[in-house]
Amino acid sequence: MFSLNEKVALVTGGSRGIGRAICETLAAQGAHVVVNYVRGEAAAREVVLAIEARGGTAEIAGFDVSDMKVAEESVAAIAKKHGRLDILVANAGVAVDGLLLRVKEDDLDQLFAINVKGSLGCARAAIKTMMRAKCGRVIFLSSVVAEMGNAGQVGYAASKAALLGVTKTLAREYASRGITVNAVAPGFIETDMTAAIAEPARVELQKAIPLGRIGTTAEVAAAVAFLASDEAAYITGQTLRVNGGMYV
Ligand code: NAP
Repeated sequence: MFSLNEKVALVTGGSRGIGRAICETLAAQGAHVVVNYVRGEAAAREVVLAIEARGGTAEIAGFDVSDMKVAEESVAAIAKKHGRLDILVANAGVAVDGLLLRVKEDDLDQLFAINVKGSLGCARAAIKTMMRAKCGRVIFLSSVVAEMGNAGQVGYAASKAALLGVTKTLAREYASRGITVNAVAPGFIETDMTAAIAEPARVELQKAIPLGRIGTTAEVAAAVAFLASDEAAYITGQTLRVNGGMYV
C-alpha cells in the first residue's frame, strides 16, 4: 500500500519541521524527493543525508517561494531535470502573529507572499507538467486556525483559509486532467513554529485537544503520504484534518 516508487516529489520548506518529516516519509515510500529551503541549506543537506542513510534518494533545491517568478522557474527546472513531477507538497509557510488592531501591513504582505502566492506559484508550474502527464498530486499545508480561527493570528488564519479556497478551486480546474488537489490542516504540531509557546499556554492548549497532546510531524507526514498515493486517486478538493480532535 501507498508505494511512491518512481515518483518525483517536491516539498517546499522541506528543510525543517513538518516539511522535513514529509520529505522523509515520501522517500521512505519510494519517491525521489526534492527538498526546498530558503535559508537553511545545511539543514536541507541533512535531510538528504538522512534519506540516503535509509536507502532513499533526494536532492536539495534552494529558492524563495515568495518570489513567484523565481518559484515558477525553479519548479519548472526541477520538472525538466527529472522529466516529471508527480507530487507537489506546498508546505513552506511562516506564522506572524498579531491582533487585528496591532497587525502591521508588512506582516500581512509577508504572510500572503509566502503562504499564499508562494504556494500558487509552485502549484502553477507543477500543474503545467502534471497536465502533460495527465496525473499528479498537489497538497497544500493549511492549518486548523483556517477553520476555527485563533485570536492573535488574523493574518496567518486568513492566509491559511485562502489555501482552502485555492484547494477547492484547483481541484475543480484540473480534475479532468487527472490531477488531485487537497489540503492537510494540522492542529498544533511540535516544530520550531510552536516551540515558542510558553509552558502555561502549552498546558491550556493541550486541554483544548481531545487527544490530550500536541501532534508530531510524522503524523502530519503520514496524511500527506496517503493523499500523494495512487490509493487516494478518488479524493480531491478535500481538507484532511490532523488535529487530535481540536476542530471536528
Ligand atoms: P517551520 O518549522 O517554521 O519550517 C518552515 C519551513 O518553511 C522551513 O523549511 C523554511 O525554510 C521554509 N520557508 C519559509 N519561508 C520560505 C520561503 N520564502 N521559501 C521557501 N521556503 C521557506 O514550519 P512548520 O511548523 O514545519 O510548518 C510547516 C507548514 O505547516 C507551514 O505551512 C505551517 O503554516 C503549517 N502548519 C504548521 C503547524 C504547526 O503546529 N507547526 C500547524 C498548522 C499548520 P528555511 O529552513 O530555509 O528557513
